[in-house]
Amino acid sequence: MRTPIPDYLTQVLDECGGDDGEVADYIAELAQADPDRLAIAVATLDGVVATAGDADVAFSIQSISKPFTYALAIADQGLDAVVEKIDVEPSGDAFNEISLERGSGRPRNPMINAGAIAAHALVAGPGSDERFERVRSFYSRLAGRELDVDEAVFESELGTADRNMAIAYMLRTVGILEGAPPDVVRGYTRQCAVSVTVRDLARMAAVLAGQGRAPDGEQLLEPQVARQVLSVMATCGMYDAAGDWLTTVGIPAKSGVAGGLIGVLPGQVGIAVFSPRLDRHGNSARGVRVFERLSRDMGLHLMEVSDVARSVVRRVERGGSRVAVHEVAGDLRFVEAERVLRSLEEEPEGEAPVVLDLERVHRVNDVARRMLLEGVRRLHLDGHDVRLVDPSAVLGGGDGQGPDAGGGYVPEVFEDAAAAVGE
Ligand code: GLN
Repeated sequence: MRTPIPDYLTQVLDECGGDDGEVADYIAELAQADPDRLAIAVATLDGVVATAGDADVAFSIQSISKPFTYALAIADQGLDAVVEKIDVEPSGDAFNEISLERGSGRPRNPMINAGAIAAHALVAGPGSDERFERVRSFYSRLAGRELDVDEAVFESELGTADRNMAIAYMLRTVGILEGAPPDVVRGYTRQCAVSVTVRDLARMAAVLAGQGRAPDGEQLLEPQVARQVLSVMATCGMYDAAGDWLTTVGIPAKSGVAGGLIGVLPGQVGIAVFSPRLDRHGNSARGVRVFERLSRDMGLHLMEVSDVARSVVRRVERGGSRVAVHEVAGDLRFVEAERVLRSLEEEPEGEAPVVLDLERVHRVNDVARRMLLEGVRRLHLDGHDVRLVDPSAVLGGGDGQGPDAGGGYVPEVFEDAAAAVGE
């Protein structure tokens, strides 16, 4: 069988056509782009990339570089130091607006140029050349191949970078920028001129989707950094169209003036689309339509909840002495763990054994684990002998030993419920 996914992607491109919008021309080299190019790539967390259209056509990354440089700045300086210099509030302005916070002079967020220029300067140096090289090699690791600068785009943008230069000087006067503005703008402009394909961008987006982990298992970003970046993309990634985007598409995203657009579905996929004609907000016109379509077809909207908590626990009595067994099934998060605690709460105080059967549980998140252990501890305080059935050690512990439930109480662990009730 051939997987139907590329066919589906081709169909989406075919149906999201149109020639509305204009190619960016404030950077002379970008005006040369073929406006009809159209491509899409979807990358899974384990490194498989499905594509359709002009997936091997290269274009400059432009503002899609911003979330990745922001991530690197946080990795280098720590979140607090970065937030002290760059706020995380949507500006509602255009990408190149000189909007600094009253008083502190902080750029509103790292997705507009002011914040992105400040973020570039926060990447560890020591000099501006080393800083740019660090940025380029970081993007390369995210993409899984060496990326390079499109020198023509770089020269072309640097020649007319007056507005970004003005922003950098402003940032320097308010103490946000420490380096020399021309050096920082040069580095930032080179960052925007890194040449990519949708395949590269989808892979880069997939690392953000996978809590910072590359398909080969290497942790390229701390999960908390990936979370910070995605949060800012969700609220500020589409400039003054951010609210509209979050309600209709509902995927953290970032666009660039060369026509690229990435979307990250946390825990699932990274998506990239390329189509050079831009709408009035500076976002790829067809790119936006493709994302609207994908979101609708595949139920990708973040606020659309796919797995509402289901009943996951039932109490039965087993064995000759009718031992209470609480059988739990499914993945456990806060809501499911709350149900389990409610079930355990039914046990009257006393010395009767209580079995907590987790054989059909595959994953327990941290809060659920702590909740269950606290339940075990309280049952023990009530006088019960608590027996865990936890063959895969989802609650922790190991080597036939349960985890410490608190106060040094370690419940006995059994391979299955029959052994726990002594059948
Ligand atoms: N390099 C571009 C600029 O600074 C990036 C803008 C964008 O892609 N929105 O103007």
